[in-house]
Amino acid sequence: LLRVDAATVRFGSRTALDGVGLDVAAHETVCVLGPSGSGKSTLLRAVAGLQPLDAGRVLLDGADQAGVPAHRRGVGLMFQDHQLFPQRDVGGNVGFGPRMHRAPRAERDRRVADLLDLVGLPGAAGRAVDTLSGGEQQRVALARALAPSPRLLMLDEPLGQLDRSLRERLVVELRDLFGRLGTTVLAVTHDQGEAFALADRVVVMSDGRIAQSGTPLEVWQRPASEFVARFLGFDT
Ligand code: ATP
Ligand code: MG
Repeated sequence: LLRVDAATVRFGSRTALDGVGLDVAAHETVCVLGPSGSGKSTLLRAVAGLQPLDAGRVLLDGADQAGVPAHRRGVGLMFQDHQLFPQRDVGGNVGFGPRMHRAPRAERDRRVADLLDLVGLPGAAGRAVDTLSGGEQQRVALARALAPSPRLLMLDEPLGQLDRSLRERLVVELRDLFGRLGTTVLAVTHDQGEAFALADRVVVMSDGRIAQSGTPLEVWQRPASEFVARFLGFDT
């Protein structure tokens, strides 16, 4: 479904992505792990069309996305700081996107209600965003990302600001949700537990490159390099 081919992004003298190659198959959940500054968010932004490539290609369903603007790529991105619109209620946030906006009111309301059911917030459409807990806000942001039925859903630290017990619960719910919807997911996290619980495949990044890609078990049992082993917390 997604192919990233030798993607390179430079910011001045800093190379944020250095020839990254990555394939994501339909219905697969891939988690990108790596230290701060290793290029995880840049990779997602490049796939989403929010970050131009200096070299390389992004293909979706075989089609080169060069020159295709973000809103035409059919991908959803939930940002690291999910940034709900505080002046809109929950329904207004979920139903905000361009495709939703053009739908008739009744249809949009129904779709918003369905999405809120899906993320475990039934009946929350009329609530003010500032009355929601952090976990509830994350769910609203997720519903918003799911609203246009993206062929690829990308999540940047989706559970970033939550405490451990809530994260653990939500990870199980997310995995279940993606399984039921058949969603293809590319998610960034720097929490290994989260990656290993959520992912069919784990990609470890280091300095703009992919240090290892494999099933959680493979990466855990056979780290490809000292960097990966150390990143996983093994003594080397
Ligand atoms: P984190 O875990 O902290 O979110 P990350 O892996 O997502 O880190 P990126 O945000 O992809 O890292 O950044 C990769 C590198 O590119 C970093 O060195 C960062 O400083 C640099 N960078 C990212 N965005 C920009 C930008 N808009 N301008 C200049 N440099 C940038
Ligand atoms: Mg980031």
